[in-house]
Amino acid sequence: MNLQAEIDNLFSSQMKKWEQLRNGIKQLDDTEEKVITWGDGFNVKIQFNPARMVSTSAKIDKESIENRPCFLCEANRPALQKGILFMEKYIILCNPFPILRNHLTIPLHSHVPQLIRNKVGDMLSLAEQLPDYVLFYNGPKCGASAPDHFHLQAGLKSPQLLQGDNVLRSCLMIESGNKSEVEELFEDVYQYLHHRQPKEDEPMMNIIAYIEQNRYKLNLFPRKAHRPRQYYENGSKQLLISPGALDMAGMIICVREEDFKKIGTHDIEDIYSQVSLPVI
Ligand SMILES: [Zn+2]
Repeated sequence: MNLQAEIDNLFSSQMKKWEQLRNGIKQLDDTEEKVITWGDGFNVKIQFNPARMVSTSAKIDKESIENRPCFLCEANRPALQKGILFMEKYIILCNPFPILRNHLTIPLHSHVPQLIRNKVGDMLSLAEQLPDYVLFYNGPKCGASAPDHFHLQAGLKSPQLLQGDNVLRSCLMIESGNKSEVEELFEDVYQYLHHRQPKEDEPMMNIIAYIEQNRYKLNLFPRKAHRPRQYYENGSKQLLISPGALDMAGMIICVREEDFKKIGTHDIEDIYSQVSLPVI
């Protein structure tokens, strides 16, 4: 059986036995969405998803992280959560707080920091076996709520997530029919971004990877800030938005209804300009 079919079976069996996942998927069915379009044919989908509050408001400072049990380590995962092994070092899990259809969390077995540099090949191997999915990566200061435990995520493709570069934010697009070539090009980009941000453990970034017509595609969103100014505002100026890979690609998650209702073109342009690192 191919991996996509195994994942479909995993969702069916987990839906039967695990109420939290059933509720999460029910909530996703009921989410409200709106689409804001720009003249040149690109758009941003806004999703009102209150179940993501825990992730959006996650504290990721060193002390908070050290003082909480890691929810990606096997010992702390929900007893009912089952998974599929991949490459003998990852486990593919159903995410009980989904943003996408068939939203997966894919942690390494070992508790090692969120650093992508030598794992892009793994990400592409997953994309290869999951042609209907996008794989995505949130850097430790770019949306990952577990910056201390390496993990990828995935979900079914949608047009917003496959959008490459546009005037709203930077996107470096790497594409080839050859996996090693994508890895080599990624390393070149990584070195360049490291040169721009030498003090970071890794250059700030989000990545979306997928397969299209037998070609590997990797969209890299360089970042210069974890969260926009509006995140820290009070009262009516506040927008509780903490961008990760999906937001950078073109699907912004609002966890509060007031934000979902009021966010408009100017806010989106402003948020992207604060968190995206311009690359020439
Ligand atoms: Zn862990």
